[in-house]
Amino acid sequence: MAIAKGYAATDASKPLTPFNFERREPNDDDVVISVKYCGVCHSDIHQARNEWGNSKYPMVPGHEVAGVVSAVGAKVTRFKVGDHVGVGCFVNSCVGLPERNVDIEQYLPGIVGTYNDVEADGSTPTYGGYSDSIVVKEGYVLSFPENIPLDSGAPLLCAGITLYSPLSHWKAGPGKKVAIVGMGGLGHMGVKIGAAMGADITVLSQSLSKKEDGLKLGAKEYYATSDAETFKQLAGTFDLIICTVGVAIDWNAYLGLLKVDGTMVLVGAPEHPAPVHAFSVIGGRKALAGSGIGSIKETQEMLDFCAKHNIVSEIEKIDIKDINEAYERVLKSDVRYRFVIDIASLG
Ligand SMILES: [Zn+2]
Repeated sequence: MAIAKGYAATDASKPLTPFNFERREPNDDDVVISVKYCGVCHSDIHQARNEWGNSKYPMVPGHEVAGVVSAVGAKVTRFKVGDHVGVGCFVNSCVGLPERNVDIEQYLPGIVGTYNDVEADGSTPTYGGYSDSIVVKEGYVLSFPENIPLDSGAPLLCAGITLYSPLSHWKAGPGKKVAIVGMGGLGHMGVKIGAAMGADITVLSQSLSKKEDGLKLGAKEYYATSDAETFKQLAGTFDLIICTVGVAIDWNAYLGLLKVDGTMVLVGAPEHPAPVHAFSVIGGRKALAGSGIGSIKETQEMLDFCAKHNIVSEIEKIDIKDINEAYERVLKSDVRYRFVIDIASLG
């Protein structure tokens, strides 16, 4: 078995530290990837710190993995050594089901997370992209388009698909007024992707501190939600609202910004349940919905869409030794807009 170098969380309260571990032996249908970059997702922090209560240690986080194929199994047909590839949030799906449902596999039982999970054998732990190599079944490897750089493209694999999927499902496009709530790692991708789909994008952010960026990335308008006037002025405006924030906000106030038959989609998950009044959705036949990442098929579609429209993430590259400091900065929203680890810094 090959030894991989990486960084791991060893328990919920300790910083991430260097960690060497064995990658599983590749099978005939596996692709071995030399990891070059890995994005830092807020859910890496939740899991490293056991904030969802299901963490297994040691844990090597990272599910925005971009790299180069270093070996392929005998039955692999779509990839060859040297190809640019990506791995997103899961490395297997529909385990135990009669067949793989390629359209909605992310919502079905039998999904295997890229880290903090076990492989289909029920025992081999999965370790993520804060490491120099990863072994993944061919069917869960994404092909990186030629014009998408591996560093700024890495965050598309979670942040990008998390926004692309609901924008596509609820048909953001010409003539549609779409609000993106929150202008962070997720939100800024929603602005870029939604604008490229042809929708009329408004950012609703706590303050106007990122207004210039928002307009530059494709938003038509930008409002501060700290200003109560915003909610009066924009009442009944939007066909679709995508809410990316992971902290509690008054969803009722935001539902008031929808048109009749409008939908508000949650992609950020606040820690505690929040009250929703029935009248917030009854008046106007509105819908409150949720959406989580996307299938492998849709993730490839998203990468190809981003390639066509030259969309990448705005990133700040870091050395892996600075990961713990980066986590603190993510928690303070002090990043424009996604940290990406340069895996070469593992040395
Ligand atoms: Zn993520």
